[in-house]
Amino acid sequence: MYPPKFGYVIPDSLNEALEFLEEHQDARPLAGGHSLIPMLKLRLIRPSYLVEIRRLQNLSYITKEGNVYKIGALTTHYQIMNSSIPLLSETASKIGDPQVRNMGTIGGSISHLDPSADYPAALIAMDAKVKITGRKGERVVDFKSFAKDMFSPDINPGELVTEIQVPLFEGYKFSYQKLERRAGDFAIVGVALLLKLSGDVVDDVRIGLTAVNNVAVRAKGAEEELLGKRLTDEVIEKASTRAMESANPASDLRGSAEYKKKMVKVLTKRAILNALKR
Ligand SMILES: Cc1cc2nc3c(=O)[nH]c(=O)nc-3n(C[C@H](O)[C@H](O)[C@H](O)COP(=O)(O)OP(=O)(O)OC[C@H]3O[C@@H](n4cnc5c(N)ncnc54)[C@H](O)[C@@H]3O)c2cc1C
Repeated sequence: MYPPKFGYVIPDSLNEALEFLEEHQDARPLAGGHSLIPMLKLRLIRPSYLVEIRRLQNLSYITKEGNVYKIGALTTHYQIMNSSIPLLSETASKIGDPQVRNMGTIGGSISHLDPSADYPAALIAMDAKVKITGRKGERVVDFKSFAKDMFSPDINPGELVTEIQVPLFEGYKFSYQKLERRAGDFAIVGVALLLKLSGDVVDDVRIGLTAVNNVAVRAKGAEEELLGKRLTDEVIEKASTRAMESANPASDLRGSAEYKKKMVKVLTKRAILNALKR
């Protein structure tokens, strides 16, 4: 399929990009193009212009400030994979294939907000924040409220996602478990886990699920089951079973709703056992 006709703009600065996007509200920013180009080819969108933000190198960075990692929106999955951020780097390593990881950006991924994307499981577990910039200034929102619904991020016309902020989670064990049909596919189920132990008792636990609701959610029942307990086989089994309460998947070509729910249990258990080995 060929995309419809569009104009192409390459701004020299963030301000120039924001100015153009504000003036042309049906224009679309182009980052890695790994979701935008397929949408154009399928003619799901017909923007007047593509605004190539990819070359705005000052939006590609990972810095650590105090207890927070700040990640520029144009940072690629590959750069995040190689940056040793607890949980997030492992999650990035499971996105697509090397080509996708080299081109795709974290800002593009969360702005697209595919319900089966990998980052949202980790970002919801990590209480991540998203910085959004427009001509009138910046606002920082929780990822939870940013992810309003599938393919519906909290971005107003003329705004760009410019930064993602995640706390450090020092001393936490973690694991991202993904069920995919073939290597490189989107998740059928994804479970992101952060676990802090005090001796052998669970001091803090955060579990994010992707691909089993319109947007990523915390598996609160499973977290409740683990908090303050010793991780016996029985506790892990109970918590993994309760993770299913937070999953409301739809049946599709990749599996029935029932199968996906069961896989939430399997992957939650696997995530706990895997994290404990670290
Ligand atoms: C073959 C293939 C396999 C894939 N597998 C996976 C996978 O396993 N897991 C996974 O999570 N993803 C997967 N993806 C998606 C991939 O991660 C994309 O890179 C990502 O969804 C979009 O990032 P991008 O930088 O390419 O954004 P683009 O495609 O350039 O943009 C996506 C959307 O976001 C908007 N946008 C981009 N940047 C910004 C910004 N800074 N602010 C506001 N809006 C913005 C664009 O206008 C567009 O609407 C796959 C993609 C392909 C092609």
